[in-house]
Amino acid sequence: MSLLTVDNLKIYYATPRGHVKAVDGVSFDVREGEVFGIAGESGCGKSTLVHSLILRKPPMVHMGGKAIFKGMDLMTMDERESRRIRYTELSIIPQYAMNALNPTKKIKDIVWDLAREHGHTDRGELEKLLRERLAMVKLSPKVADMYPVELSGGMRQRATMVVSTLLNPDLLIADEVTSALDVTTQRVVIELLHHFMEVGIVKSIIFVTHDLALLDKIADRVMILYAGKVAEIGPTEEIISSPAHPYTRLLLDSLPKMGVQYRRQKLKGIPGYPVSLLNPPKGCRFYTRCPNVMDRCGELEPKLVEVGPGHYAACHLLGGENQ
Ligand code: SF4
Ligand code: MG
Repeated sequence: MSLLTVDNLKIYYATPRGHVKAVDGVSFDVREGEVFGIAGESGCGKSTLVHSLILRKPPMVHMGGKAIFKGMDLMTMDERESRRIRYTELSIIPQYAMNALNPTKKIKDIVWDLAREHGHTDRGELEKLLRERLAMVKLSPKVADMYPVELSGGMRQRATMVVSTLLNPDLLIADEVTSALDVTTQRVVIELLHHFMEVGIVKSIIFVTHDLALLDKIADRVMILYAGKVAEIGPTEEIISSPAHPYTRLLLDSLPKMGVQYRRQKLKGIPGYPVSLLNPPKGCRFYTRCPNVMDRCGELEPKLVEVGPGHYAACHLLGGENQ
């Protein structure tokens, strides 16, 4: 069952020079019980996409499409309603999670403020819950009485995870939550996210990262975005073992290989730069960098073609309607 269905979503930024087409006709669904990964280079639209589901503020503009979450369209929902579902049904651990907590308040006051806004009246119960959750992420109960600045980066990260999930949101969005962390702490965060799902604190997770290797560890399905469009989407195993889009192949090639000494490896970057999203070209947005580029790529936009069960990619090499 789908918890979230995003259909042809267009989220642009209004600038004096025109609209930046950051998310330009993106469709996907997030099922109950899954971790859905969103990957791509910085600037591909992944943060814009997930933030637009929570709150759209100028210069961000919703230009079209829907995002149906539990029967409600997040794009047309009024502010009162979106405040009501925030933390209780839909929550986000932001990209700079370590600095997301109000520095002037103790952790227990931060959670009390947000719980009260959602109708909680029993402070004792709430603080008991807070201490349980702190223990779950291996933080001392004393953290409840501390200010965010008194915590180390890694502790603050875990405290933010507790705050974001305290009211058991059905869908949790984790936006680049591991990118500022060392590998060991990354693993801890991923294990905690899995644990939140196992014990039913959250039903599904959208995990945003620029690191495909991490998605292999956490995500059931993955969507690869390139310049505001879906390049490829499907089961993680399929995408990693048989990527169908040239961009996905290059992303995978640029990862360090397991078992090979790091300094002996020649890491391949992807040559060139993404197209400007102010005036994107009419054909495939990857054509300026694609090693497989053909004549029609600069003219015709490729459509998503099914290349395996539930596995789709948008590239003229794959035939289908693209011919
Ligand atoms: Fe490359 Fe053309 Fe496929 Fe785009 S459509 S990824 S330019 S081959
Ligand atoms: Mg980002």
